[in-house]
Amino acid sequence: MFATKPHHTSVSGLTTAEATLFYSKTVERYARFFDRPEQRLRFLNNTVTHQVACKEKLDRALESYNFIKKLGLYERIKSTGFYDRLLDLWLHRSICRELKEMLPSASDERRKLLQRSQASFTTRLLFRSYEMRRLLYGVAATACVVALLGFAYTAVWTARRVNVYLASRGRIERKNTNSASTQNALIADSSVKHLPDYRPEKVWLVEQQGAYERYSNGARILTDFETANHARGFYVLPHNQATLVKTSSNDGAQVRREPIGIVYHTSESDMLPFTSDNNASIETHTRGLLEYVRKHKSYNYLIDRFGQVYRVVRDTDAANHAGNSIWSDAEGVYVGLNESFLGVCFETNSKSDSLDEQLTEAQLVAGRLLTQVLRSRYNLDDANCVTHGLVSVNPSNMLICYHHDWARNFPFAAFGLSDKYKVAPASVSEFGFTYDDEIAEKLGGDVWSGVKLGEEEFRRRAEQSDMTPEEMRPRMRERYHQQMNLTLRLRISHPAEAEASRQTDGSAAAPVTSSSSSLSSRSNARPT
Ligand SMILES: [Zn+2]
Repeated sequence: MFATKPHHTSVSGLTTAEATLFYSKTVERYARFFDRPEQRLRFLNNTVTHQVACKEKLDRALESYNFIKKLGLYERIKSTGFYDRLLDLWLHRSICRELKEMLPSASDERRKLLQRSQASFTTRLLFRSYEMRRLLYGVAATACVVALLGFAYTAVWTARRVNVYLASRGRIERKNTNSASTQNALIADSSVKHLPDYRPEKVWLVEQQGAYERYSNGARILTDFETANHARGFYVLPHNQATLVKTSSNDGAQVRREPIGIVYHTSESDMLPFTSDNNASIETHTRGLLEYVRKHKSYNYLIDRFGQVYRVVRDTDAANHAGNSIWSDAEGVYVGLNESFLGVCFETNSKSDSLDEQLTEAQLVAGRLLTQVLRSRYNLDDANCVTHGLVSVNPSNMLICYHHDWARNFPFAAFGLSDKYKVAPASVSEFGFTYDDEIAEKLGGDVWSGVKLGEEEFRRRAEQSDMTPEEMRPRMRERYHQQMNLTLRLRISHPAEAEASRQTDGSAAAPVTSSSSSLSSRSNARPT
């Protein structure tokens, strides 16, 4: 770093006498600052003595640390020139200190002396720098502080900018979600299409033990009451088919075997007060109910008051849960939902004189989890998750709401589903089923809003066929019975399933005629 030009390239390994000579050559150049020979000599002696002492101190220090020797660092320090540079730095520090000590303290006199001296420009500059070192340190320190502050400010500014950006993005996204949900609400209000963008969360089986299954969303399904019934099989009826459906099962129409939706029920069984001192009795009641449901193959699932989920009739098989019933989606119309929909029953009943069913907190949670499991497994559309009260019909008098479990107040939102009370039921809009004062009264004064939409739709349809709704209604009842019979024949045409159906309680095992009300009376007897 400094322009020293010694004879030796390195001071390492020099004796004290050699080192003295080596340093003298450098120090002599600075001695030119002094006019008087005795001053020069004193400066030379003081500086070189100090420097030689420094060198000896450094050598002793390097030798006294064992680890430096062991690692061979001593040699490396010397061979890389680090040793020389360190001593060089010390030498110039010693020179400057000594100069400052010996030169006149008055700045004018000192400046004159420096200008007069024969010292080289580099030497003078170096000394000047040494003199002003505190100022230079100050400048350097200030520069560092300014740089650090600048960095910190830039960081804060950037963070603010990022925050502002993210906040604006958030606002845009929230705006989008808001408009999307408004749109969904409109769709749910107007037609059968609801939450079209909603995709059920993917749920999978994690563990299957002897008596239970555990799913990735936390759902647990108990299987110790599981039983079989006849295999599912149904046709999808096209929309707006005022004329009759095909009456043969081998007409090329595709038979469907996978469930297409869920119908929610209540057990309408006796309820004990839901308190801890009734624990044992509540469980005894549940057991009794489960045995009844298993014997009659009433539902695919039962959720007890403690939120335990039991599978009763296997998913692949139809349960006797919905009886005379109709629902539709964008694809088509379904008649007799035992075959096409899974039946999920909550152990609860409605309060006397009202249709207000109560669910426990545990049932709400379990119902939501089970809904996710079934929707994920069978890719069930939100449009096909509905309640018994909304799908049940009585073909003998063409009235809706024969069974009225969850005919109102079903917590659709809590299960991640859209409100089906706002949807026109196909029973009303396509088949012309209607309601009377008794039903309206039962429902708290009036039917749900979807029924009104359905009535308008049916009136429009009758008009298009140049009929009054009253003229069209008997035709539609005929269509309904034919469709039900078609479904029954489908079962009987499969020998194994016919065998299975003979082993059940026999409900709806035989085809019925349009004039017969036996189908409705039998399958509506129980359960709800
Ligand atoms: Zn029911």
